[in-house]
Amino acid sequence: MNRYDVVVIGSGPGGEGAAMTAAKAGKRVAVIDWHEAIGGGCVHWVTIPSKVLRHAIWQYQDFRDNPLFARALEHLDIGYPALLEAAGTVIAGQVKMRRGFYDRNDVRLIDGHARFIDMHTVEVTNSRGATQRLQGDHFVVAVGTSPYRPDDVDFSHPRVRDADTILELDTTPGSITIYGAGVIGCEYASIFRNLGCKLNLVNSRDKLLSFLDDEIIDALSYHLRDQGALIRHHEQYERVEPRDDEVVLHLESGKKLKSDFLLWAQGRTGNTDALGLENVGIEVNSRKQIEVGEHYQTSVGHIYAVGDVIGFPGLASASYDQGRFAATHIVEGACDRRLVENVPTGIYTIPEISSIGPTERELTERQIPYEVGHALFRSLARAQIVNCRVGMLKLLFHRETFEILGIHCFGYQAAEIVHIGQAIMSQPDEANDIRYFADTTFNYPTMAEAYRVAALNGINRVI
Ligand SMILES: Cc1cc2nc3c(=O)[nH]c(=O)nc-3n(C[C@H](O)[C@H](O)[C@H](O)COP(=O)(O)OP(=O)(O)OC[C@H]3O[C@@H](n4cnc5c(N)ncnc54)[C@H](O)[C@@H]3O)c2cc1C
Repeated sequence: MNRYDVVVIGSGPGGEGAAMTAAKAGKRVAVIDWHEAIGGGCVHWVTIPSKVLRHAIWQYQDFRDNPLFARALEHLDIGYPALLEAAGTVIAGQVKMRRGFYDRNDVRLIDGHARFIDMHTVEVTNSRGATQRLQGDHFVVAVGTSPYRPDDVDFSHPRVRDADTILELDTTPGSITIYGAGVIGCEYASIFRNLGCKLNLVNSRDKLLSFLDDEIIDALSYHLRDQGALIRHHEQYERVEPRDDEVVLHLESGKKLKSDFLLWAQGRTGNTDALGLENVGIEVNSRKQIEVGEHYQTSVGHIYAVGDVIGFPGLASASYDQGRFAATHIVEGACDRRLVENVPTGIYTIPEISSIGPTERELTERQIPYEVGHALFRSLARAQIVNCRVGMLKLLFHRETFEILGIHCFGYQAAEIVHIGQAIMSQPDEANDIRYFADTTFNYPTMAEAYRVAALNGINRVI
């Protein structure tokens, strides 16, 4: 009974994509997860909770800025714990829905920690200490990552938090220091600053999110500062000193940043400790990630790995697709589908950011003759109606072929808007043409109309 065609370890997006694909192809599938409810870190402690929080705070701030509602909110104290409760409702809904997928497809869900015993066996130990062994012809390792915790920082202290434990905070901080200004650091900077907390955002580099287009980086820095965040670049921590009533971040530059809480946001490491990989001869890199080949096979052919545990791009969206492709390879012995070349980036700061494809900097370095088309949200009727005038859509296109090369957007609904351009940009050959947006008819008023405005703006520069 404990023999399966495919055993999946981890029920996040990577594991779910693999399990569903294999089950729908008629395979006998088991999914193991040590968390009592399925959904992975994605549903329970990273993507979904942070997005619900961000949305609730954005709405709250939007109401406060609206004279119609501002007075009603004057006597309302909505703190961090109340906003977290909103996340609980969404998480419960996600778990129920996803459980239904597994039940309908006869996938067995097993609760416990999985560890390889030999090439075809894993041992699962549940929270009560009971063990069982499962045999599999194939395995998909989708165990995700955990926040990176250096040894010299005391994470057991209640004033020192990481991206997981920040969701257990039962108070609204008066002040918070975020060490690490990557995507997670910037998203939480938006959350806490818009909640009214005094905020230090400490960056070890010289700019925020340097993989983005410079204009977007400038806009994010400007708006975070405009909201009141104090951003410090080029800083390295020397030590963290948690006290009973505050925490002090000592920087190598001699600065000391005092705040109620510290959020440590310095990258993540693979959940590969205690997975028994040594028993099957799979090695991990310095970030405890597993290396895989083209079809997500590890160095052991029948053991696949997908999702964050294999590293870049480290997104829920991509993890799900990787799981599907790995399972297709297991089922069919081949898979000609690949992750799209340009995986979209969605960053849920306030304002929101999204982009696909190269930046101006990269195109210039590659000496590609491109032109730029801009649409400022403040000139769109829809943005005026919803009172979200901050933002811009920027299209980069080849000035001779009119091929769309890159899409960069910030502001209201940026993560949605970018997909309209993606649909045209991913068309083959001449079908990828910015003139499509100049020639088509858009609903009015919409945010999508930004494409027409940006296309006309860009084309006018060329002709
Ligand atoms: C703060 C934050 C915000 C994010 N926001 C976004 C976003 O907006 N959009 C986006 O696309 N991505 C986002 N991400 C990234 C996204 O969360 C991950 O890419 C995604 O969760 C990875 O999915 P996964 O299946 O690889 O692993 P996970 O979702 O982490 O799931 C792994 C599962 O494996 C289980 N597990 C681990 N080891 C074992 C074991 N030995 N035995 C049994 N079970 C085990 C864990 O309990 C967990 O349930 C965010 C990440 C963070 C940290």
